[in-house]
Amino acid sequence: MPDAIRRADDAQYQEVTCRSALNRVEGMPFAWTLNPYRGCTHGCHYCFARRYQTYLELGPGDEFSSLILVKVNFADVLRRELARPTWRGERIGFGTATDPYQPIEGHYRLTRRALEALVDHPSPVGLITKGPMVVRDLDLLVELSRRTTCTVHMSVPTVDEEAWQALEPGTAHPLQRLRAVRTLADAGVDVGVLMAPVVPGLTSQPAKLERTIKAIADHGARFCGASVMHLEGGTRDHFMRFLSREFPDLAPRVDRLYAGKYASRQYRDQVHGVLELLRRRYGLHGGQTRSRPPGAAARIPVPREENQGRFSWGLERPSAVAQGVGGL
Ligand code: SF4
Repeated sequence: MPDAIRRADDAQYQEVTCRSALNRVEGMPFAWTLNPYRGCTHGCHYCFARRYQTYLELGPGDEFSSLILVKVNFADVLRRELARPTWRGERIGFGTATDPYQPIEGHYRLTRRALEALVDHPSPVGLITKGPMVVRDLDLLVELSRRTTCTVHMSVPTVDEEAWQALEPGTAHPLQRLRAVRTLADAGVDVGVLMAPVVPGLTSQPAKLERTIKAIADHGARFCGASVMHLEGGTRDHFMRFLSREFPDLAPRVDRLYAGKYASRQYRDQVHGVLELLRRRYGLHGGQTRSRPPGAAARIPVPREENQGRFSWGLERPSAVAQGVGGL
């Protein structure tokens, strides 16, 4: 992944100290978040975390992926927080505003050290990443899975080469991410894929959705969550600039589709209808976290049939899908 390595090498890394590691959130499927870095050299153009940059008076554009803040005391602070008698062991989302396995993690190992703290003070965790480096920490993920609920959400919005290269210039190849899914699943870690976001006009074509879902199923993912891209604040500004530059024909249509921060309800319903048909066809579901009582044995995965039949649009197909979802 030469472009990803070049981007990571070209970035500036600024070491900072943090006062807290656990960050309280509301209205999410988890009560706390963990993000050992700020900014992300993966540089996905749709990344919703771009807009958070402005809180630090940093730019949501190139600065998001080229200036990375490294919280060097992150794991030590986390360990102290988890050891407090007041800690109630609520669910944690790990990697919600940055990728905990972006390339610099190979040097700082903050994510690994944070996982070590979680193994010593088990709390339910859902970890989100696009980084195949996650397999480096297989030993800790297996151990954490024995002690509490631990789910890895690998983000693979599409396996389409062109869309991947355009949208996620600093990430590993989608199939490399799916091979990591296979490795984790074979080791008994609860792992699924987030096909998020579905990007209108670039990853939303039914044939691309089908290839992606089939690949996800073939690599042993337990679930396949998905959502249509939403655009807000600095993320919208950056994404529309990117689209106007790289896909000028598509830009006005996407602009019309997003009157607010979400694509129109009709469009989202159509996409989710197609996704649901495909999931059923390939034996996946969209659910995410599976609860397991502390101490219960980790799941021993059953190998998935590799040779599954192709999806036939047939009579199940919603009429809008024939022309492409929502005309995009
Ligand atoms: S990998 Fe995740 S955090 Fe990093 S740029 Fe992409 S979407 Fe944002």
